[in-house]
Amino acid sequence: MSPATVYFGSPRQARLDWRETLPAKLDLILERLNLRERLKDELVVIKMHTGNNVGYSTVHPVFVRRVVQAVKEGGGKPFIADVSWDVAGAETRGYTPEVVGCPIYPAAGPQERYYYAHHRPYKNIQDWKVAGLIEEATFLINLAHAKGHPSCGYGGAIKNLALGCMVAETRSAMHDVCHYDPYWFPEKCPDPAVRQKIIESCPHEALVQDKERPDHLHLHVDNCNQCGRCLQVAPPGSLKIDPVNFASFQEACAISASIVMSTFAPGKAVHIVLATHMTPVCDCFGFTGMPILPDAGIFGSDDLVALDQAVLDATARTPLIEENIPTSMEVHTREGHPLRWLHGPYKDPYLVTQYAEALGVGTRQYELVDVLPVESFVRGPLPYVSASGR
Ligand code: SF4
Repeated sequence: MSPATVYFGSPRQARLDWRETLPAKLDLILERLNLRERLKDELVVIKMHTGNNVGYSTVHPVFVRRVVQAVKEGGGKPFIADVSWDVAGAETRGYTPEVVGCPIYPAAGPQERYYYAHHRPYKNIQDWKVAGLIEEATFLINLAHAKGHPSCGYGGAIKNLALGCMVAETRSAMHDVCHYDPYWFPEKCPDPAVRQKIIESCPHEALVQDKERPDHLHLHVDNCNQCGRCLQVAPPGSLKIDPVNFASFQEACAISASIVMSTFAPGKAVHIVLATHMTPVCDCFGFTGMPILPDAGIFGSDDLVALDQAVLDATARTPLIEENIPTSMEVHTREGHPLRWLHGPYKDPYLVTQYAEALGVGTRQYELVDVLPVESFVRGPLPYVSASGR
């Protein structure tokens, strides 16, 4: 497969001019993707996450409106789709039809009962239920925010489709794949007091007693950074902190994204990632913490895999901003991608692009095209802004 093209707008600017900012660079990316020319009479779903509660680091309405406007100018019929409970409060975070310029719908209906099932057995999952409005659309604009993620290190374009286009039942099953391969062997640890010591050895409360099986320990994969303290307390053979339990979520995301993409004809999807205000965990948490990576810019491509690969490569160039991570989190490795530092070595964020490439969703090989290189500008004076606004 030949390299894909990923268009890129840097967060840097030479002059204090709006034409050098990220919304303007989004416009340039949409032009380079020939978006308007591809949309006549298309029913266009803009899949984005409208966030939750008081989160304010999702894709800002300024960007969303520009995408909607481009769809309308191209003769397409746009609507935004997201999971039901985030759409229910989207207006509290600034996402309303009046502001963004198009309707905002729960992708699978208000009860998440409108879907199309796709049979693809993987561990505990048999059928993947794609939200009805996603499958009904004829063109997809995948508009994602890059950030950390407690299950897999990174959430970007692939994850926006993988979780956000499935109904709640499938999303839940996808998180459960981490528990499919056994990691607790009760016959090797029959003593409840020892089990309690193992539980107490984890500073992140990642191990708890299983609710249904009292002699089992349950691993909250999201909380576990694979520090290994529990393994020093657990009797030999009783507990595994095993890469397979962590990698399976990323493989499930790749499968899910491949199913979503299979519902669109070739050439009927573009993918955009805004890599700004990247927080330690995903936007489902419903709040915005301090950024843990410097802003990396805005990226757009026809190739879903190349896009996330490019964002990961760009965000790997600078170290984690360790002074900004919550004090309840710890860094115990400084190898590989900085999001791996934060979430642990078995949550390598590159895994999802490797799985997706193997499934034929796209390629990890790409050419990065800067749509407005900073170097091309000469230094100039500050612009005059009238105090009267005129
Ligand atoms: S590896 Fe570390 S974080 Fe994970 S369960 Fe064990 S003690 Fe907790």
